[in-house]
Amino acid sequence: MASTSTNVPGAPAAQAFNDGTKDYKPLRAAKYDPKKPHITDFPVTLDNWYNHVNWLNTTFIIFIPLIGMISTYWVPLQWKTALFSIFYYFNSGIGITAGYHRLWAHSSYKASLPVKIYLAAMGAAAVEGSIRWWSRDHRAHHRYTDTEKDPYSVRKGLLYSHIGWMVMKQNPKRIGRTDISDLNDDPVVVWQHKNFIKCTVVMALIVPTLVCGFGWGDWVGGYVYAGILRICFVQQATFCVNSLAHWLGDQPFDDRNSPRDHVVTALVTLGEGYHNFHHEFPSDYRNAIEWWQYDPTKWTIWTWKKLGLAYDLKQFRQNEIEKGRLQQLQKKLDQKRTKLDWGIPLEQLPVIDWDDYVAEAKNGRGLVSIAGVIHDVTDFIKEHPGGKALISSAIGKDATAIFNGGVYEHSNAAHNLLSTMRVGVLRGGCEVEIWKRSNMESKEGAFVTDSSGQRIVRAGDQVTRIAQPVAAGNAA
Ligand SMILES: [Zn+2]
Ligand SMILES: [Zn+2]
Repeated sequence: MASTSTNVPGAPAAQAFNDGTKDYKPLRAAKYDPKKPHITDFPVTLDNWYNHVNWLNTTFIIFIPLIGMISTYWVPLQWKTALFSIFYYFNSGIGITAGYHRLWAHSSYKASLPVKIYLAAMGAAAVEGSIRWWSRDHRAHHRYTDTEKDPYSVRKGLLYSHIGWMVMKQNPKRIGRTDISDLNDDPVVVWQHKNFIKCTVVMALIVPTLVCGFGWGDWVGGYVYAGILRICFVQQATFCVNSLAHWLGDQPFDDRNSPRDHVVTALVTLGEGYHNFHHEFPSDYRNAIEWWQYDPTKWTIWTWKKLGLAYDLKQFRQNEIEKGRLQQLQKKLDQKRTKLDWGIPLEQLPVIDWDDYVAEAKNGRGLVSIAGVIHDVTDFIKEHPGGKALISSAIGKDATAIFNGGVYEHSNAAHNLLSTMRVGVLRGGCEVEIWKRSNMESKEGAFVTDSSGQRIVRAGDQVTRIAQPVAAGNAA
């Protein structure tokens, strides 16, 4: 392993790994020493719990919002301040969704410099860390979803994925490694990272206070509503992508991991709610693929493209998207299929001689042979929709023709029901053909099975069904 320096001037040397990634090195002086045990190596106790808490994060995401909420008691909300707060909320939210997430973490499109500066500034107003730090964690979240290396794994609980991972200190060694060399090459990202505290104080608190103060004299209201409380709303909304989007909704593309699609999450997160799609197609600039689904982040990026401010919007082919959707549907069908009784598989049935079959039927067991498969209909005789006499007349005989149109062309449902009564396969010539017929659907002779290896029996494809109605035989 070679030790190479990052592309950032002044950054400490980073170790390169076989997978091409390097250790995440903070650009500012770090207090963390990887050789010393980390606080997370010790269990939380009454004596050390306060060492486990990340007090800086807790101040930003819990204490300051609480102070903001309490101060609303003394600070009346003016309507101009309310409108500006909503406007600023959407802008700082877009900074995170269109900027931090879709532009930098996933490179799902390219943006011109003015758009990048706007997104970096508005993202800082959301107070969620720098682009570089945020994207590094987010790439680890995609690479190691739901595992120990996922920084905000929902498997550790909804509250942990929402806020717990920031309130409690994290062992930097735990988070999975990711490649952020592209971000280290982006001067906007590097500048914002190095000047993050200044950026965030200016954009999150000073700018809204100045706008409301100079605009209509509401200095305190601007600070409390457009500043503090707006930060709190943006944070809680975007945190929902880590929690709610991994907990609530459907999984139309893959259900092996936790990401889910739900309109409520989309409404809360400026369109980041189609998260099952997003984890399958992370570099697609869209989250919602239907025009009627709520994805204002997508609409914003698309508008920038029309204005010449964004380009190279990445989009997966519809063919690939539909393949994923179909495979997940198939999986659901398979799961439903396994819950049903399709009868004992033919290869597990005993092979019975014709003479033994006839003898058993004479002994009073209601055995009927159809297409070489022996069925025990003893308990069904009195329920036979065609009456007792017709079914009884077939006992101990080859009833293939009778069942397949000789007397009555039985329904698909009748063939299905019959298969649940099968008890054996008749010896001689035909059983091999029977197995072939039931097992092989394609001309190449490949078994058609579902994802759990169960044979698929389609309507009209049961082993007891003879495609060409045979001559009426002895029933005529
Ligand atoms: Zn996710
Ligand atoms: Zn993502």
